Amino acid sequence: MSDLYPVTHLTQRGDALYLEEAALNDVARAFGTPVYVYSKAALQDAWSAWEYPENERQIHVCYAVKACSNLSILRLFAERGAFFDTVSEGEIARVLAVGVPANRIVFSGVAKSEREIEFALTQGIFCFNVESVPELQRIHAIASRLDKRAPISLRVNPDVDAKTHPYISTGLKANKFGISHTDALAVYQQAAQLSGLEIIGIDYHIGSQITELSPFLDAQNRLFDLVKQLADVGIVLKHIDLGGGLGVRYQDETPPLPSALIEQSLQGLREAGLTQDLMFEPGRSLVANACVLLTKVEYLKPTEEKNFCIVDAGMNDLLRPSLYEAWMGVENCTVRDANAAQTYDVVGPVCETSDWLARERTLAVAQGDVLAVLSAGAYGFSMASNYNTRARAAEVLVDGSEVCVIRRREVLSDLWALEL
Ligand SMILES: *Cc1c(COP(=O)(O)O)cnc(C)c1O
Repeated sequence: MSDLYPVTHLTQRGDALYLEEAALNDVARAFGTPVYVYSKAALQDAWSAWEYPENERQIHVCYAVKACSNLSILRLFAERGAFFDTVSEGEIARVLAVGVPANRIVFSGVAKSEREIEFALTQGIFCFNVESVPELQRIHAIASRLDKRAPISLRVNPDVDAKTHPYISTGLKANKFGISHTDALAVYQQAAQLSGLEIIGIDYHIGSQITELSPFLDAQNRLFDLVKQLADVGIVLKHIDLGGGLGVRYQDETPPLPSALIEQSLQGLREAGLTQDLMFEPGRSLVANACVLLTKVEYLKPTEEKNFCIVDAGMNDLLRPSLYEAWMGVENCTVRDANAAQTYDVVGPVCETSDWLARERTLAVAQGDVLAVLSAGAYGFSMASNYNTRARAAEVLVDGSEVCVIRRREVLSDLWALEL
């Protein structure tokens, strides 16, 4: 395995890029562009990195479906024993559609509707991660009406700085997520009075693309204190859910390994004298570096100010650069002479100035080349839209030298099929 690239199982052979045993130029020719190409081995490796040896307590890894929700990928993790973190009825239904038992599903999100709560309750999910007092009351009311008890956890906002982009930071007082640390004890006591609820856990999720351990550890310590205070008032929890957010390498980041996060968390639990089961909710770290987005160079356009490399994938296919100014690696699938390199902005076809994939990159590239946007597996296809009436890309899965379609490319008639 080469560590030239952050993407696992991506290698250069001769002048060509391969994902596992599949030449990326061949994949582009066979399936068209833009196309999301996932490596099965890379997904398996990413899952293995979260597996932790047998322990005195259970550790559940709960894949955050929103990072990449393709059924084939959900199934792959389901076969490895994954739990799933969902944020909508749609995501719950996806997970059920691959045959996962409902008692492996956690339901998060700030705006759970009555319909969604009733659906989740009827299915028998593992836990509602509750984000506000009115939500708690709504779940209690629906559960009482259905003569059920809803398993709940409160999402506590620990008020720590995840040191990540403001748009993907979720654990500060000013964020819409969770119940403030200050109010948590009182809200738990309130929940304990509601007969439609069964309190089983506590959770937090402080942000995404976190590349240091310290924000996790600060948040954990605050949470563990709270768990002890709860026990003192007779509220004994079964599990502690430490959320997702572990970062990955896009450029030169060196995020901690999942095993380091798990080890430190276990250490913290032991020091606090707590025996609860542990849960984590990784999304990005399971999928980001198992995928490239292939896109064809339509035109090279030199201007007075800049050189533009205009490609056939845009912000509708891959939103992260436009939305968060995210840096994503770009490589030519045909490796050309570096002496021919120039500085380009790689931009898409969408009619917005914010439609760019990469800025100020040194690339040796010719019209018609296929570029690979690296680390595209997380918040890539799952954020794609039909803006500009563009059909969404295909998704394919590489397994050795075999490549199979796991979501066909949309055809234009799909785009207006629902319109009257
Ligand atoms: C998005 C999200 C996650 C996953 O975050 P990553 O940064 O992709 O690991 C986990 N838990 C909750 C509640 C989320 O909203």
